[in-house]
Amino acid sequence: NEIYEEMDPLLIRIDEQQRQLKAQNRELAEAENMRRDFSSNVSHEMKTPLQVISGYAELMKNDMVQPADRQKFAALIYDEAQTMRSLINDVLTLSKLDESAFDDEGAPAIELLSVAERVAGRLSSFASDQGVEVRVEGAPACIAGSRTLAEEMLYNLIENGVRYNHEGGSVVMRVEPEGDEAVVRVSDTGPGISPDLRDKVFERFFRVDKSRSKETGGTGLGLAIVKHAVIYHGGTIAVEGEEGQGTTFILRFPAAS
Ligand code: ADP
Repeated sequence: NEIYEEMDPLLIRIDEQQRQLKAQNRELAEAENMRRDFSSNVSHEMKTPLQVISGYAELMKNDMVQPADRQKFAALIYDEAQTMRSLINDVLTLSKLDESAFDDEGAPAIELLSVAERVAGRLSSFASDQGVEVRVEGAPACIAGSRTLAEEMLYNLIENGVRYNHEGGSVVMRVEPEGDEAVVRVSDTGPGISPDLRDKVFERFFRVDKSRSKETGGTGLGLAIVKHAVIYHGGTIAVEGEEGQGTTFILRFPAAS
């Protein structure tokens, strides 16, 4: 009997360890599945532009394009090459994020209002092409972290606000300190995102409107990068807005001085 009493806690411990091991294995298998899905998605997304590029290039090589159409074909090839470039850049950013490989230890605080202004400047020609007005407003607010990543995060949000919008629409990025937080709100006059899709849009390669995303050069990775970048900076992200009345993304970070 005494032996049994001594063994009991031991058996319970072994049981518990087995349960933990099983859970760990499940997590590993899930991560492995996600990695596999991601790789096959990336290959698939690469194939389409590559097919267009080689198809058009072959026609040109074989002199099967009228001189008057040459420029149009070259422009199509260029656009597809740009899509591939964005995809490669986004995949690289995500894999750096997965490894937290950003060298920002001891870096000075990042002031988000000036980052937002810079980013809006970089997007001004895309915005005017789409007939969308971009405004940045608010007050200086600082966070700690990676400047490159903070830029990428705000860039993707303004770019989406322009991309999913209409001619004559607008995107407003408002930055301000609130208590011990730095807050960024990005509002657009686009179609909005229905409440049941508000978690999904942060998944890799999820798109509500596939054709619109492709047409304007979207990779399907923008919001996945935004979400990871927000987490990297210790922040949170929320989506608001009535359907058909535009979208507002709200980002909150611990403030730095
Ligand atoms: P994409 O490269 O397709 O824009 P994202 O990851 O940036 O990929 O966004 C995922 C999907 O979420 C988009 O395809 C689009 O359907 C939707 N979405 C993103 N931002 C907005 C927005 N501001 N308004 C409406 N829909 C949006």
